[in-house]
Amino acid sequence: MKALVLERVRALSLRDIDIPSELGPDDVRIAIDTVGICGSDVHYFTHGRIGPYVVNEPMVLGHEAAGTIIETGSAVTTLKPGDRVCMEPGIPDPNSRATRLGIYNVDPAVSFWATPPVHGCLAPEVVHPAAFTFKLPDNVSFAEGAMIEPLAVGMQAAIKAGITPGDTALVTGAGPIGIMTALAALAGGCAKVFISDLQDEKLEIAGRYPGMIPVNIKTQDLKKTIDEATGDWGLDVIFEASGSPKAFENLFTLVRPAGTVVLVGMPVEPVAIDVVGAQAREIRIETVFRYAHVFDRALDLIASGKIDLKPLISETFPFEDAITAFERAAEGRPGDVKLQIKVG
Ligand SMILES: [Zn+2]
Repeated sequence: MKALVLERVRALSLRDIDIPSELGPDDVRIAIDTVGICGSDVHYFTHGRIGPYVVNEPMVLGHEAAGTIIETGSAVTTLKPGDRVCMEPGIPDPNSRATRLGIYNVDPAVSFWATPPVHGCLAPEVVHPAAFTFKLPDNVSFAEGAMIEPLAVGMQAAIKAGITPGDTALVTGAGPIGIMTALAALAGGCAKVFISDLQDEKLEIAGRYPGMIPVNIKTQDLKKTIDEATGDWGLDVIFEASGSPKAFENLFTLVRPAGTVVLVGMPVEPVAIDVVGAQAREIRIETVFRYAHVFDRALDLIASGKIDLKPLISETFPFEDAITAFERAAEGRPGDVKLQIKVG
């Protein structure tokens, strides 16, 4: 089976590789249609590692996927061949303490696509548990289905924020996760969401969405903008989605007393934070690691038209050009939000 294999840093090949393909009773076999390229895939390509996860042997990339069921295990009753689906890429141990508590995303035993040594889904077929495979509503395309994974991160952030209808929020960082977090926050009841970045191209795309207010921090004073908009009271919620140490410098000064800061972005190095600044106004700090129990909700929001991800798909590459797609993603063009690969 030909798959997109990361051999080592900066070395990709489209070649045959043996991937486990045994279908258990609770599994489904899926013909992959579309896979989105994630920042983490690109980082493994360019650096060969993310924190403790190191690519020591060839690994198939990709974890944002949609496709069609072609076979079901003997115990599967919820899905059938022909069903169009998207997949949640992290499989926890069903009997672990974390899973039993409902927090399976932080199960230490979770096995996640394209996180070494686990192969990803940039291949014609994958076998996956039916419990982590979700049927696409008829009006949701494969391309949108392959965007549910990053949207799920934004959904998790919006849930962790505990949004109250009418809240005013800020997302720092207008990358794919930042924009999808802003979309989830608006769908979750925020009246408006400021979104800040340094790149006009990214902000221009965000600013096309009603309710999203772009702020370029190179030319605009963010604190002044927020103070003016909130009558010096501050924001109900801030989602930090840039991972940049710079964003933490005045973060707590932008939140209202007893407001919430949700940490979504992942700084490469430890970051200093103003603890007393947060304490003095009893700011609540939440963190997000991937997601749990949100894929079905994300799909419902797409199907209902409350979230439209289509404007975020910048370009789609055929599978034979998958390496070109990764080289393009590694360029980090500011106008590119999501690049996808059409596998099937
Ligand atoms: Zn991703």
